[in-house]
Amino acid sequence: MKDRRVSDWLLLRKLKVSLSSVHSLDQSGRRLCPHTSIFFLPQPISARPQSSHVVSSCLSQWSYVKFFNIKSVCSASAGRRRASHSNSFGAAMEVNGTANILSSAYLAVEYVDSFLPGNPLQEPLKHAWNHMLQNYSKFQIATWGSLIVHELIYFLFCLPGFIFQFLPFMQKYKIQPDKPETWEKQWKCFKMLLFNHFCIQLPLICGTYYFTEFFSIPYDWDSMPRWPFILAQCFGCAVIEDTWHYFLHRALHHRRIYKYIHKVHHDFTAPFGMQAEYAHPAETLILGAGFFIGIMVFCNHMILLWAWVAFRLLETIDVHSGYDIPLNPLHLIPFYAGARFHDFHHMNFVGNYGSTFTWWDRLFNTDSQFMKHYSQHKAVKSD
Ligand SMILES: [Zn+2]
Ligand SMILES: [Zn+2]
Repeated sequence: MKDRRVSDWLLLRKLKVSLSSVHSLDQSGRRLCPHTSIFFLPQPISARPQSSHVVSSCLSQWSYVKFFNIKSVCSASAGRRRASHSNSFGAAMEVNGTANILSSAYLAVEYVDSFLPGNPLQEPLKHAWNHMLQNYSKFQIATWGSLIVHELIYFLFCLPGFIFQFLPFMQKYKIQPDKPETWEKQWKCFKMLLFNHFCIQLPLICGTYYFTEFFSIPYDWDSMPRWPFILAQCFGCAVIEDTWHYFLHRALHHRRIYKYIHKVHHDFTAPFGMQAEYAHPAETLILGAGFFIGIMVFCNHMILLWAWVAFRLLETIDVHSGYDIPLNPLHLIPFYAGARFHDFHHMNFVGNYGSTFTWWDRLFNTDSQFMKHYSQHKAVKSD
């Protein structure tokens, strides 16, 4: 059985290489612009694939999504010709380097998925999703559904941190115990949150429907990717968002602009969960843009929007929680920053600019003050 899986995998690798080597041809067989960037994605598979079916599913279900400027780049060399959509291999396309990485990642996820057990919640979820589709329009789902998902998840994830302040035995996990949350701070934060959520984020959420229509992003159950793909896509979104966040956040700390925008987020030197989205409206737009880049790259179903919202909120509320809880499952994510990492940023103002991961701070040595502080903290604790 194992040998069979290994041979499947080797065959998939060969297929991918041959895919990468073919040139871009449109439906009439004419060569497309060589700069055309098309990301190959496996078409979502509603039924869980068996290991032995991976190759055939890849052969029969490869499709692609357009990304940014397929039309514009092609039109320069082929006279306003629009890159046509086709699900067949007849329209073979050139795959650029990024697409190679993406297609390799998708193949790897599909291979891992073939080993995973079935989802016991599959049927109830299918029923609930189809019920939603039958009773609400796409516009209602994209707009009001997204708003409800955002608000519910935000305040639900804030709830544990809010309760911890009343539990004496949780205080030993508070990172800055000398700076407790006060009602005054929390009320101030709550008012700003409501303004940001309904006056800044809601107008952006209203664009969700038009975004999904423009890119022909499906809502139906049968097109929905399986959860390992959604998880992998969320991880990809997090890598992109973290990169955007690191550089823009660092720029917002520049002494010439800090006081105009980012100072608001640093009102509280000891953060608490609800403070995650407490920021100047301009910062909500600047740093929030990083959220959409991953969506532009990976989104092949409406569910990814909601899954990525949930993942991003969980992460940002966790790092702002002010509590370093042992056995936090989020620390299983490789290079995950965590509450202690971001808490130090609020305490120290300098360093630790990453949102989700630690690698950019490590690479540019902007975590040196934190590393020193943390090693001293551990030494005092062990004495
Ligand atoms: Zn900052
Ligand atoms: Zn923060």
